[in-house]
Amino acid sequence: MSVVRLTNYIAGIAQAPASLEYLNVIQPATGEVHAEVPVSSSQDVEAAVQSGREAFPGWSRLPAAERAGYLLRLADLIERDVDSLARAESDDTGKPLSLARSLDIPRASANLRYFAAAAQAFHSESHPTPSAIQYTLRKPLGVVASISPWNLPLYLLTWKFAPALAVGNTVIAKPSELTPVTATRLSALCQEAKLPPGVLNIVHGPGAVSGQALVDHPAVAAISFTGGTVTGKAIAVSAASTLKKFSLELGGKNPTLIFADCDYEVALTTSVRAAFANQGEICLCGSRIYVEQSIYERFLQDFVERTSRLIVGDPLDPETDLGAVISEPHLQKLERFAQVARDEGGTIHCGGRRLALSGRCAKGSFFAPTVVSGLGTTCHFNQAEIFGPLVSILPFASDADVVEQANGTPYGLSASLWTRNLARGHRIADALEAGVVWVNCWMVRDLRTPFGGMKQSGMGREGGQESLRFFTEPKNVCVHFGE
Ligand code: NDP
Repeated sequence: MSVVRLTNYIAGIAQAPASLEYLNVIQPATGEVHAEVPVSSSQDVEAAVQSGREAFPGWSRLPAAERAGYLLRLADLIERDVDSLARAESDDTGKPLSLARSLDIPRASANLRYFAAAAQAFHSESHPTPSAIQYTLRKPLGVVASISPWNLPLYLLTWKFAPALAVGNTVIAKPSELTPVTATRLSALCQEAKLPPGVLNIVHGPGAVSGQALVDHPAVAAISFTGGTVTGKAIAVSAASTLKKFSLELGGKNPTLIFADCDYEVALTTSVRAAFANQGEICLCGSRIYVEQSIYERFLQDFVERTSRLIVGDPLDPETDLGAVISEPHLQKLERFAQVARDEGGTIHCGGRRLALSGRCAKGSFFAPTVVSGLGTTCHFNQAEIFGPLVSILPFASDADVVEQANGTPYGLSASLWTRNLARGHRIADALEAGVVWVNCWMVRDLRTPFGGMKQSGMGREGGQESLRFFTEPKNVCVHFGE
């Protein structure tokens, strides 16, 4: 296999890192090295910040419609290259090619299209009185940083830089060192779209080195971060020393609530999908499944049976439901959690182990989808974010009981509840401590809605107007014209 040496993208130019150091990027499904990612230092971050600062005056003064035009051109190019980008995303992450083709890459272009339009409709407010008019301008912040994780690489990268650019900021993006390929491909598309140099810069490298240098840089005005809770807290501490604005989208341990009066078949099918989509490596996956006592045994049996039928295989095979997990260390973490389930007295109904595939994937990192029962909400298995294909099924006795259990973790990202009784649906949705609640569905997203978590799942919201507000600073002007 040919190994591609990736580049940073600074001032509109593909560049080697100042250190000339690289790390291997391993394809999770095959275990082979398929790329080398730059190890960027504070020197590269400095160059990117300089280029962002130089580009800012021109970019921020462009009419919103012109900025939108660049984003739309980029969206067109992503759509043109959807097949090759989906292949690159699947190779980099291990996710099924079918998922990258139907979800990740289309969502990347949708992010660009949505924010190109939304920013044009984003307006200042005015507050007239007989003797004065107060108006509130929304000014771009300057150079902002976007730091994104490995599970939805291009999807989350575009989710952050599209609104930031659309309202006039310039951006330095740091993708995960584990999945840098589509971001590098994007920099070539930026050149093709003739995006002015310095408007979007991409700096690769390990979070603790390259990401930290970005967080610490005094000229970076804001950080939009998606990743783990521990990293998010460290970023908040670092950002405080330079008083940067930040938005944190962090981990989750999301509950799925199945009431006896639900549409059983739809609830079952969707909760299996919610548990194992993208190998369970989506922050919104439902990993604690609470089932009303009267249907608990039947649901558990059916859930296990459906899970056992899922195909774990080569991401390139269209029949594959679950591809490889992100890395060998992550696979080892999943094995440890299967052991935690055993040690805590849980029953593993299926999975609980790594899988050995043959042929091209013989050295890949695959884990069998795992269903555990018999563990209470307070067990470590049900408290920690595992971020993989391991779920727990638990019974509940009443509305009050399930609300207490569902809320009984430090996290509060999302929840999904299933009932035909809509009054109960509204009541429980209101009582759940989660930033996003789905009633009778899962992961139905609308880019206009606020997105983010409560408690340890984050701080601030992105999406729709929330993103546009985050990436702007309100400035109030009062003009007095009375006597
Ligand atoms: P991490 O927190 O490890 O990393 C996220 C990003 O931060 C990566 O680009 C990483 O770089 C970078 N980073 C790490 N350390 C630092 C640092 N000190 N300063 C600056 N940047 C740093 O998360 P994962 O990549 O493991 O992603 C999985 C996590 O993301 C899960 O907890 C998941 O729940 C969460 N997530 C949350 C979502 C949400 O919307 N709430 C959506 C998707 C995922 P590198 O990887 O190169 O080291």
